[in-house]
Order: sequence, then C-alpha cells, then structure tokens
Amino acid sequence: MKKECVYCGLRWGVSILQKTPKSGYECPRCATKRKRAQQRELQRLKTKTS
Ligand SMILES: [Zn+2]
Repeated sequence: MKKECVYCGLRWGVSILQKTPKSGYECPRCATKRKRAQQRELQRLKTKTS
C-alpha cells in the first residue's frame, strides 16, 4: 500500500496495518525532520529564558 506524504509529496510504501492520522500521512523522513526542528526550537527558547 502506498501513501502520499502531506509534507514532501513523495509516495511511501506503508503497511495497511499502520494507521494514518486524519491530517494525512507523514513519512518517517519528514517526521524526523519535524521532531528535530521542534527540539531545536525548544532548545532556543530554553537558552533565551535562562
Ligand atoms: Zn515526507
């Protein structure tokens, strides 16, 4: 089963058992990238306040 990632638009092979959120499928690559950016943002806020 192939699903199109809502972030990069690439089609990825996904297991039918894997649930897709209503907002759309997010590929592992975009998920990692997003998480990293989120962490960076948190780190930035932390250093700003302390
Ligand atoms: Zn993607």
